[in-house]
Amino acid sequence: MKILVLNCGSASVKWGLYADGKPIDGGLIERVTDCAQAVREVLFTTDVSDVDAVGHRVVHGGLRFTTPTLVDDEVLDAVTRLVPLAPLHNPVNLEGIAIAREMLPGVPQVAVFDTAFHRTIPPAQAMYAIDVEVAQENGIARYGFHGTSHAYVSHRTAELLGRDPAGLNVISLHLGNGASACAVRGGLSFATSMGLSPLEGLVMGTRSGNIDPAVVFHLHRVAGMSFEAIDDLLNQRSGLKGLCGDNDMREVLRRRDAGDEAAALAFDVYCDRVKAYVGAYYALLGRVDAITFTAGVGENAAPVRAASLSGLEAMGIAVDPARNGSGERGERLISPEGAAVAVCVVPTDEELEIANQTAELLTR
Ligand code: AMP
Repeated sequence: MKILVLNCGSASVKWGLYADGKPIDGGLIERVTDCAQAVREVLFTTDVSDVDAVGHRVVHGGLRFTTPTLVDDEVLDAVTRLVPLAPLHNPVNLEGIAIAREMLPGVPQVAVFDTAFHRTIPPAQAMYAIDVEVAQENGIARYGFHGTSHAYVSHRTAELLGRDPAGLNVISLHLGNGASACAVRGGLSFATSMGLSPLEGLVMGTRSGNIDPAVVFHLHRVAGMSFEAIDDLLNQRSGLKGLCGDNDMREVLRRRDAGDEAAALAFDVYCDRVKAYVGAYYALLGRVDAITFTAGVGENAAPVRAASLSGLEAMGIAVDPARNGSGERGERLISPEGAAVAVCVVPTDEELEIANQTAELLTR
């Protein structure tokens, strides 16, 4: 089975072509200003003549979409209604689907949602403690994101450890440009750090993650900032960028090594937040078998992995310095031999997971 995967982001289009679960072609178009044009370019320049289906990454599936879904007009309407919850992402995802439908008529289009994996989180985790009527009327809930990555990484972790995912509790740490933690219990999402939007939770490249909501009121009422300006501040000028001026962890590490105090503090704020979530999810899960790092920072930044899990020996959590710093790539174990909790690095592959989920839907 041949599957084309399209991952249309706010500024890039990632794509991959898979034959029976194996990658045969793929690419990344960056600094995209017209997603439709970029998708046309991919379809014009790639041999898609015998594609069986196209799998699309769709960021927000609300509470409705819990599994990969065959796209029809009604599904597109539903995804369009979710645009206010993901204003930067759902519109470009919809554009990609529209172009693929137009250029590959008759080929099944499948939407794979970032939020879907998290639809197993229990109400105690999904609900914010606000007036339930206001929440219900306005769709205020913890949706969670990076679901495709957390699903892939937690299943690969079970494979790496030779364990059945159904019996494994994993804390998955997706640390990339965006960052989120996920407590995975028996292969299912049980808690996750992103919420109504991808702004909640961990410190990110340019996003604040958790703050006291009163900061927003204060900046509006006292500092006179508009909601648009506060939105921009928290999404684009916060996180590592806000703390030290650089959003790329490579640069933060380089400056920290050179004795830069702002970079060192940004690093500490970032890693402390990760550690706090590890502790919280350890408590929620009751038992943790593995902690897995993934995405740009998680896969590459050994100092972040070491600092985020430092001092947790009493919880059975430790990172072996030689394994952690080996510079090895690929799926690997970085905890000491015989540690109670396996600490792993698993490169994420959202496109492969989308291809697999798309193929699975078609053969069901
Ligand atoms: P992603 O969203 O998964 O593509 O992650 C992108 C981010 O990963 C970049 O903005 C960097 O901050 C970070 N990153 C990539 N490579 C490295 C590296 N070798 N060391 C530290 N951070 C890295």
